[in-house]
Amino acid sequence: MNWEINVRNPGVACAAVMLAVLVASGNKPSETCRTMLQIVDAESGEHLAGIIQIRNQNGERLPLPELFKRGTGLQGGFPIHEWSVLPSNVVVDLPAQQLTVDVLSGLETERLSQPIDLTGKSDEEVRLPLVRFFRRKENRQVSGNTHLHLMKLSRDDCDRYLREIPRSDDLDVLFLSYLERVTADREYTSNHYNAGDLAELTLQSGVLLGNGEEHRHNFAGFGQGYGHVMLLNIEQLVQPVSIGPGIMKTGTDGIPLTRGIQQARDHGATAIWCHNVFGLEAESNWILGRLDAMNIYDGGRRAGFKERFYPLLNIGLKVPFSTGTDWFMYDFSRVYVELEKPLTVDNWLDGLSTGRSYITNGPLFRFKVNEAAIGDTLDLAGTDAVSVSGQVEGRIDFEQAEIVLNGRVVATAATRKVGEHFRAEFQQTITVDEPGWIALRIPPPNLRDAGPKTPTNEFGRSLYGHTSPVYLTVDGESAFNSRSARAMLEQMRQAQVAISEQGKFESSQTKARVLDVYADAAAKLRKDHVALPE
Ligand SMILES: [Zn+2]
Repeated sequence: MNWEINVRNPGVACAAVMLAVLVASGNKPSETCRTMLQIVDAESGEHLAGIIQIRNQNGERLPLPELFKRGTGLQGGFPIHEWSVLPSNVVVDLPAQQLTVDVLSGLETERLSQPIDLTGKSDEEVRLPLVRFFRRKENRQVSGNTHLHLMKLSRDDCDRYLREIPRSDDLDVLFLSYLERVTADREYTSNHYNAGDLAELTLQSGVLLGNGEEHRHNFAGFGQGYGHVMLLNIEQLVQPVSIGPGIMKTGTDGIPLTRGIQQARDHGATAIWCHNVFGLEAESNWILGRLDAMNIYDGGRRAGFKERFYPLLNIGLKVPFSTGTDWFMYDFSRVYVELEKPLTVDNWLDGLSTGRSYITNGPLFRFKVNEAAIGDTLDLAGTDAVSVSGQVEGRIDFEQAEIVLNGRVVATAATRKVGEHFRAEFQQTITVDEPGWIALRIPPPNLRDAGPKTPTNEFGRSLYGHTSPVYLTVDGESAFNSRSARAMLEQMRQAQVAISEQGKFESSQTKARVLDVYADAAAKLRKDHVALPE
């Protein structure tokens, strides 16, 4: 039994619960019951970590001061603040009355809502059995968050955050990244973790912690610039960490992101573009083959599969989908990577770079096209029918799953309820008459304030889920949509104009160094596809 996270100061904690109950009920203070809370796998009996909330008969939530708050560090307004974390068995003082405990673990269990009656009891053990409807280990899937920083926390709270929250979210891998912003970064607590700290937290939490740097450029403090890129598993920081006077109030705009990306990759790091395609240099770096994966929905609402990600796939690029959360773990967001090898930071990042991934903050995926797995390339001979098998499962009703072929939805399957979760399945043939790609997703979230609302998860975040593609070549030919390519050439031309207008450069040489990235990408696109106009 693990008592490591026992009450820090039982007297204060107890008084706080009593006071809350007194305020909530308006009655005399109830007796309290020392209660051990224990989450287990309903099938195996194995201990689980999870998140919890407890309400009294009036539906009022108890404050649970002994437990760490799941929404630590985040501003109010989201249901994440209703949850506390339970990384292992914990003893709490609860009012000795009828209560309801709500509990879940990560994305793969159902939610349990269990009434408990503590009336007249002073000591009790409460076992909370969770039904796991998806076992990622059996599917050789390993979940990770590639983008996290923490700020304005004490070192103790930051340690506790990293020890308890990733574990209670049922996550396997987490990258904590360094970043700089003039003056403000004094409060970036997560900047102060070294390799030894991460190794120790890995042991304490059971979640593999890796390092990273967010390398970035904005023209102003926060608006668009060249973009943000996550350099993961680095040997040393790439300098300057942040480029330009917009973020650092010093220096010039004369360094493109691509330089730092190449420097880090030359030393074995993995480069993941951040915040969807935010930033002018995204497409160029993809065309030049300098990125390993694309972070989607990591702290940004600027997205749109159709507008921003599919055009990259439609010109024949391989773009592994990835995700994370940026400042604090405000969502369940994670990327699942299929992994045959033992779990190490290197192996997991290799799996991600080969595109064996899907992104989600809810639904869980299995997907095969003929015998090809996510990330594989399937070579077809002329017009061909492929056999698609897919299964999507989730605790929250995601309403429908969709097969996307070259950006078009070609098949849908509605969800049905199975126990206390939802499932949509495909087993069908799809005709393919041109090269391209095929993926499985749920309907894209509506992140705008207008328009129909899409389903949200327990933290109030719009559900998303999308596999990386299975690539389809026909007689060895990859996809190439010349309209997408021409639009990208125009976009890169406009980027050069914007940079010339907004950038501050110390010389025409450094300006050329930035503009050349776009020229090089355009030249490569034209060289690979000779029919494109000059
Ligand atoms: Zn970030």
